Amino acid sequence: MNEKIADFLFPNIDKTPDYYEKMYPKRNLSDDAMVTRFGPSPTGFVHMGSLFGSFCDYIFAKQSGGVFYLRIEDTDQKRSIENGIDGIFNDLDAFEIVPDESARVGGDYGPYIQSERTEIYQTYVKDLIRRGLAYPCFLTEEEIKEIKEEQEILKTKLGIYGHYATDRDLSFDEIKEKIDNGEEYVIRLKSPGNPDKTIKIIDCIKGKIKFPEHNIDTILLKKDGTPTYHLAHAIDDHLMHTTHVIRGDEWVSSIPLHVQLFEVLGFERPEYAHTAPITKKDNGNIRKLSKRKDPEAKVSYYEEVGIPIDAVKLYLATILNSNFEEWYLNNQDKSIDDFTFTFDKMSVGGTLFDLDKLNNISKTYFSRKKAEDIYEETVGYCEKFDKSYAEVLKDNKDLMIAFLNIEKDGPRPRKDIAKYSDVKNEFSYAVDFMFEEENYSKLDSSKDYDIDMLERYIDIYNINDSKDEWFNRVKEFSINEGYSPNVKEYKNNPDKYKGHVGDVCEAIRVMTTGRDKSPDLYEILRILGKDKLRYRLELFRKYLNK
Ligand code: GLU
Repeated sequence: MNEKIADFLFPNIDKTPDYYEKMYPKRNLSDDAMVTRFGPSPTGFVHMGSLFGSFCDYIFAKQSGGVFYLRIEDTDQKRSIENGIDGIFNDLDAFEIVPDESARVGGDYGPYIQSERTEIYQTYVKDLIRRGLAYPCFLTEEEIKEIKEEQEILKTKLGIYGHYATDRDLSFDEIKEKIDNGEEYVIRLKSPGNPDKTIKIIDCIKGKIKFPEHNIDTILLKKDGTPTYHLAHAIDDHLMHTTHVIRGDEWVSSIPLHVQLFEVLGFERPEYAHTAPITKKDNGNIRKLSKRKDPEAKVSYYEEVGIPIDAVKLYLATILNSNFEEWYLNNQDKSIDDFTFTFDKMSVGGTLFDLDKLNNISKTYFSRKKAEDIYEETVGYCEKFDKSYAEVLKDNKDLMIAFLNIEKDGPRPRKDIAKYSDVKNEFSYAVDFMFEEENYSKLDSSKDYDIDMLERYIDIYNINDSKDEWFNRVKEFSINEGYSPNVKEYKNNPDKYKGHVGDVCEAIRVMTTGRDKSPDLYEILRILGKDKLRYRLELFRKYLNK
């Protein structure tokens, strides 16, 4: 009779699971190669949490010599948005997380869009019905609501199981009559589970997980014949030969169902790695990074504010493996590809997404980049997001590269830039007209400075001095002006001096840059040269009203 029901419900399905088993043979890969997949639903922009997931998929497949593929999970057509698929491809492209197989590049295990795989799902479901492991269920929404209300009052497990599963054993005639009457139905799993028994799995990240066996007749095919996530997961990950399902831990509670589905379908189960949610500190509380509240949850945010994608990836690597950051700081010339990631160094609880930390990582990243590259990339960024500054950069190429190059060499390069947009603020004093506009507005002290001393300093300034010669000259100058040549001496005899050499340098710095902190003063003075120093002295004189 089951055979008859199966044929009646799926008259157009003429294939058997065997057909697909042959069509998608085992992949020809080494034993430890991982096959991973990213399965986003095209319901809006890619959330940073999902991007993190795809980054894990990508890394683990790549480093094991395996395959990373992209599968569009659009079975919930109501939630899918127009251009959602393009958005996913664009976000992955931006992060250079390139799938080996996808709807775009193809592959031997497609289609890679679930809505194009309906026939495959129905073939397996037809077979389950034939084997008495699935059935059509005609319960209406109203009836299901009543069941739920009753279960809530009784405080028993929710769902269709046991005596609530009234349609489990309908005869062919009963089924035919209902369908002929136009009654709608879903296909449910005839769950063989016994909740008194326990299932155990070892999750690659969370370790041992135990659950009672699944015994709910979960929906496999919806009224419109499309699969639920659960069915699609089992069939696709089986046929596409996924070895490691890396997904958010909101799916942990579905493990018993998934284990059972793999069993009834006769599939070998992949390994599971359930990732902790990406969280954020908000007023002292830790909560999930939210699409609605947090701009940084949107993948496009990073491009807009000008954090290089490679820096964001480095940050993702630091939250992916707890030992990555230290490794990166100690390995100047290495890249993410040189690090071996493991599941056991992944967070089990929550993964804190910390923008300050990201900025620090990005600063380190910039500090290792050549000034010329920072310049070119900043021009590229500004052409998109700050056109007028792009022109300024282009008109002052050599000058800007010289500034960006200050303190780049040596074991502790400067870390002042975290994003392309920082270049404008950090070096606004570099270009004369911007310096004029900004003038001394960035100074936070209302200190007075000896403008005549500064004038005398410019007179003795020699652009050809080496750094040592320059500093010796500043010291000599300080003594002549009544300042101590070192701080200690000044502290021992404060009454004897107007101040110390540091105060002299501060005055020069403030006059030149409009700030009391700046990169190496010697370099700045050399880049600007004497004429510009004189010009700035006049601006400073006006500012000080002298
Ligand atoms: N489409 C599912 C989601 O967006 C994918 C989960 C999975 O990776 O299995 O949550």
